[in-house]
Amino acid sequence: MVTPKKETEEGKHKEGKEDNDNADYGETVKECPECGSKNLIRDYERAELFCGDCGLVVAENIVDLGPEWRAFDFEQVSRRARVGAPMTYRIHDKGLSTLVTWSPTGHGQYKLKRWQQRTHIANTTERSFIFALSEIDRMACALRLPMNIREASSMLYRKAMKQRLIRGRSIEGIATAIIYITCRQYGVPRTLEEVRAISRVEQKEISRAYRFLLRELDLKVTPASPVDFVPRFCSLLDLSSNIQSNAIEIIKRATEKELTNGRGPIGIAAAAIYIAAILGGEHRTQKEVSDVTGVTEVTIRNRYKELSEQLDIDVLL
Ligand SMILES: [Zn+2]
Repeated sequence: MVTPKKETEEGKHKEGKEDNDNADYGETVKECPECGSKNLIRDYERAELFCGDCGLVVAENIVDLGPEWRAFDFEQVSRRARVGAPMTYRIHDKGLSTLVTWSPTGHGQYKLKRWQQRTHIANTTERSFIFALSEIDRMACALRLPMNIREASSMLYRKAMKQRLIRGRSIEGIATAIIYITCRQYGVPRTLEEVRAISRVEQKEISRAYRFLLRELDLKVTPASPVDFVPRFCSLLDLSSNIQSNAIEIIKRATEKELTNGRGPIGIAAAAIYIAAILGGEHRTQKEVSDVTGVTEVTIRNRYKELSEQLDIDVLL
């Protein structure tokens, strides 16, 4: 007789490389695996290491090294504290494996239970899939994503489900990460902050699901280019097309001079737009640019100083 195997997450990770719970990781990682930024911030309140540029939570459960390490930027942390109310809906297999009780005489009973169990699994899977699709639809709608991205997201979710990657995880978290991935694949990247704002889960959960899916589905997501963000950010800031092309020009020059190395693309885009807007007489405050891009004012300031100095741009405020 085959006892239904309880599939724990650990069992599926061949290398046993779980992406969190590794206390050392937070101290060894030097740049964001998502955007390449070296602007990593330790948040000991939450025991997280996160990217100051794109917001990815790079490591969790990091070790507190003492007060001198706590001198992180409080502004950046408080920004991240604004999380939506989580409505976590999880499927778990708790108790399923104990449903079947084997006894030498109770074969019929076993079969019935097995059938009930199967039906239960089918229903749960179906229900969770329907729920996931409605979540994808809701978020895609809020982000005004075109139909093809919605469809691609649904298909990617189905793929993850077929590979049993959803079990034991938050459906909302996986669905959000999938939207984030698909937007990138289709060349219309959204920032983590943007998807966080319309998701029902917090940044940490999205980051975790994102890292998990990339690894388990072996997805290759190329780093977003700063240029990819410019049109949408400019339109959200109500800037003219002139500013848009000037911002792209600044980014091109910065890339040629390798000023973008080790810098997150969103921060570069935000700073370039900030500079271009001033030069073009359509000044937007750092706060306004920050609100739209999700990049902190501190980061915008740093990038803007670097870019204007290194590119010899005279920005007169
Ligand atoms: Zn990053």
